[in-house]
Amino acid sequence: MLGTAIEVVEGDITRQRVDAIVNAANASLLGGGGVDGAIHRAAGPGLLAECRTLGGCPTGEARITGGHDLPARFVIHTVGPVWRGGTHGEDELLARCYRNSLVLAKQHGVKTIAFPSISTGAYGFPVRRAAPIALREIAAFLTRDKAIHRATIVCFGPETLLAYEDAAVEVGDEG
Ligand code: ADP
Repeated sequence: MLGTAIEVVEGDITRQRVDAIVNAANASLLGGGGVDGAIHRAAGPGLLAECRTLGGCPTGEARITGGHDLPARFVIHTVGPVWRGGTHGEDELLARCYRNSLVLAKQHGVKTIAFPSISTGAYGFPVRRAAPIALREIAAFLTRDKAIHRATIVCFGPETLLAYEDAAVEVGDEG
């Protein structure tokens, strides 16, 4: 099911040479810590200026901007769910982040895209529960729609990498 169109790597998403990188933003879209802070630092002040025009983004949805000083042409900002124990629709909201980011990417002609591990940092979503959700959503999209050629999950640190590698085996076995 995963095929070769999805890859899991360890690294810094701001360095990825892809058409679009996805930002795990907060609802204000006005910057934050974690991957959001790293993306804004690498993109330069033009990104924040553009984000100010968007008026925020609800959880599970996505918005697109230019990449400014990044190697990527676009940044897709999506707002993951804050973990509240797992019974407040977190799984579905997380799945929607991946789905809506891919829809927006396709609309803008993106062929290669990189995702961080959405919600598993400051928002507290357990990475071993998040990883199969992420991989299933991406695999389902790339399988039914050939517009996007490659999706990379960029894991920040070995623990996240291992969780996604294990999930890739699990999701791959589902065929
Ligand atoms: P959230 O608020 O959605 O949990 P965080 O940015 O706190 O977002 O964390 C999401 C994931 O992004 C975490 O696994 C974190 O370690 C990772 N991360 C932080 N900086 C980077 C980076 N430069 N590149 C890729 N991933 C990163």
